[in-house]
Amino acid sequence: MTDRLYYEDSYLTEFRARVVDTSPDRLRIYLDRTAFYPTSGGQPFDTGKLGALDVIDVADDDGQIAHQLSAPLEASEVSGLIDWPRRFDHMQQHTGQHLLSAVLVNLFDAHTVSFHLGVDSCTIDIARALEPAQIRDAERRANEIVFENRPVTIAFEDSSQDLGLRKPTQREGIIRIISIQDLDRSACGGTHVRTTGEIGPILIRKLDRIRGNQRIEFLCGMRAVKRARADFDAISSVARAFSAAPDEVPALVAAQLEKLQESEKARRRVATELAQARGRELYAATAPGPDGIRRVVRRVDSLADDLRAEAQSFTAGQKSLFLAMGENPPAVLLASSPDSGIHAGEFLKAALTKAGGRGGGSVTLAQGSVPSKDLLDQFVLP
Ligand SMILES: [Zn+2]
Repeated sequence: MTDRLYYEDSYLTEFRARVVDTSPDRLRIYLDRTAFYPTSGGQPFDTGKLGALDVIDVADDDGQIAHQLSAPLEASEVSGLIDWPRRFDHMQQHTGQHLLSAVLVNLFDAHTVSFHLGVDSCTIDIARALEPAQIRDAERRANEIVFENRPVTIAFEDSSQDLGLRKPTQREGIIRIISIQDLDRSACGGTHVRTTGEIGPILIRKLDRIRGNQRIEFLCGMRAVKRARADFDAISSVARAFSAAPDEVPALVAAQLEKLQESEKARRRVATELAQARGRELYAATAPGPDGIRRVVRRVDSLADDLRAEAQSFTAGQKSLFLAMGENPPAVLLASSPDSGIHAGEFLKAALTKAGGRGGGSVTLAQGSVPSKDLLDQFVLP
């Protein structure tokens, strides 16, 4: 069993140790003692150095801690150095989780069922759903306890006694217990800060429903500060675009969105009216064939709504046929006046079937698609 130096002192960043075992390639190293934390209990592993070599992974290998190195280690004794900014960030997030989980139980009887410490954010899943107002209460209470700067202590106690833990443990024998004064006692093997003040600000972010639980995303310490800074910068850039104050942004965006929807409706109406006018003009300008039918064939990039309006407006005139082919995606539109002698739906359906496409429509309007734009050449007016 490796002697875990972080059990007693999470602030230890340098240590010396003996190599007790290695993998044959000497990339995986086992020491008699280590300050490196292995991935476990929702907290990721530490990085750092063994001698001059980078520690790229640390795992709990059946009670032994395995250090994975970037290159083979030849020495039999080595000094270790923990990447402190990474470790301290983990300590802040992890202690913040204990605090937040305890507050959620105290205020709302909401028990934490799992915890994840990620690269960008942390989450806890709780067994019941809370309202946004309750979440804000929990966030405020958690931060009050941060400001009270309560001691966070490590103790080793026998599991045969009543340990008064927030979450009962299955472990037996000597249990490592992390306590936040007058708030929480948890069985935990992770690394924690020594006072709640060191957690820094606690910021709750997203709420999600996951398999009947509620997932709460939160950030502690410098992560919370960085996130608040990024949020402010983002909101400020939107506010600048409106020449407004950041607090006015939500109302302004909502008002702009409504305006945009109204303008879009008006634009569509005008586009349709314009297309209808074009259809009427085109009808007037198109000479009838020897059979008295006016024909228009159009090849366009894509079949837009206003082209359909133009076609229908054209065939609102007597004895008329309007065929349009769009290339992206490959599609065909046929409009016919009722007195043209052509059933648009039936005629187009037959032509589409021949071209390996699909579609159909009514007596006066039909539409369909074909597998490739090369097939569009097959479509001609009768
Ligand atoms: Zn812990």
